[in-house]
Amino acid sequence: MRNYHIWTTGCQMNKADSERLESAMSQMGLSSTPSARDADVIVLNSCVVRQSAEDRAVGMLTSLKPLKEAHPEKVIALMGCMVGPKSEPLQKRFPYADLFMRPQQFEPLIDLLGERMGIDPDGCLGPLTATPDVATYIPISHGCDKMCSFCIIPYRRGRDVSRPLGEIVREAELLADRGVKEVTLLGQNVDSYGHDLPDNPDLGDLLSEINNIDGLDRVRFLTSHPNDMTEHIIDSVAELEKVCEHFNLPFQAGDDEVISAMRRGYTNDDYRQLVTKVRDRVPNVSLSTDVIVGFPGETEEQFERTLDLIRDIRFDKVHAAAYSNRPGTIAARTMGDDVPSEDKTARLKAIEALQEEVLTEINSGLAGESLQILVEGRKRGKWFGRSRNDKLVFFEDEGDRKGEIVEVCVEKTGPWSLQGAVAP
Ligand code: SF4
Repeated sequence: MRNYHIWTTGCQMNKADSERLESAMSQMGLSSTPSARDADVIVLNSCVVRQSAEDRAVGMLTSLKPLKEAHPEKVIALMGCMVGPKSEPLQKRFPYADLFMRPQQFEPLIDLLGERMGIDPDGCLGPLTATPDVATYIPISHGCDKMCSFCIIPYRRGRDVSRPLGEIVREAELLADRGVKEVTLLGQNVDSYGHDLPDNPDLGDLLSEINNIDGLDRVRFLTSHPNDMTEHIIDSVAELEKVCEHFNLPFQAGDDEVISAMRRGYTNDDYRQLVTKVRDRVPNVSLSTDVIVGFPGETEEQFERTLDLIRDIRFDKVHAAAYSNRPGTIAARTMGDDVPSEDKTARLKAIEALQEEVLTEINSGLAGESLQILVEGRKRGKWFGRSRNDKLVFFEDEGDRKGEIVEVCVEKTGPWSLQGAVAP
């Protein structure tokens, strides 16, 4: 039997794309191998959101050159955001790679494998059917129309296109039949879901349909743009039993001038008002956010406003990244990458220290509480899973608890995770 190896870097969208490709390849009779060296088909699913991610993909692809030279029959494909609308520059740079595929465009690989293996690839790219995890992802839209000045996504993933609602619901039903308990609906901007579909269903409508699926216990969604968050979405989270009380709402910067240069379309005050609305409407809600430090021209004083916002809002998770100049973006074309890298590093450290302090406090308030944990697997001899509001919890138990919802009483808390015991 032939086998494949998929190497994935980047966001959940890339992980979901890789799962979909895995599903298609397993339907074609290929099996997965953990080693690229042993694989007949090697796929690198790349990310270019930051220079470091792109460097990793380039390093990986370069390291495969001797393997391909020794075994020309192996298929090497580069997929994901490194592949722009024109693949000629990549073909010149990596002539030994067989295929360059844009995000979600798996067909050339499936067709090539079909030809070589004499298999009809029709139907392989349907809904996800490989053995999925207890908690898995469903992409509900692709691309983004926002054009934030720092972001390469709209250039690489294209315009914001929603998948038909019925198709997503069928996929969620199929996953539930295969033992999936939690789905996370994914999009670069999930809040705009449906704007391009007939009858304009929105994310609230989709959540409501998925909430009705037997066998599924939980639904989440990622990532939201603050400007597209509607009352209907907030109410759906508040009212629908299976929709978890968690919002990922990137604010990116705390200073209005920087937010405007990022072309985000809101102010610090608008963002605070939105958080108040969400918290008023959804009790026990947890909030995560994304932040960029060292955006072109960001002064220390402007960065302090980012820290103030983190301190005031008390997020449950902050994903902070240093600004990385991405050729082709509005910021790269019109602004200089002028914040020294040591300042960016210091700002990242300041966020991490503050967040550790905030989370130590928030999580210590959970000691003694009972949380419903969906058990995803085992790590370092303990079961782990997440609470409805996305807290990572570890506990010990002799039985096989994977896929179960277990009530865990929190005994020990730390900033990044909680430890507990099965409630009596
Ligand atoms: S909303 Fe902005 S940051 Fe997010 S994917 Fe779209 S352009 Fe990029």
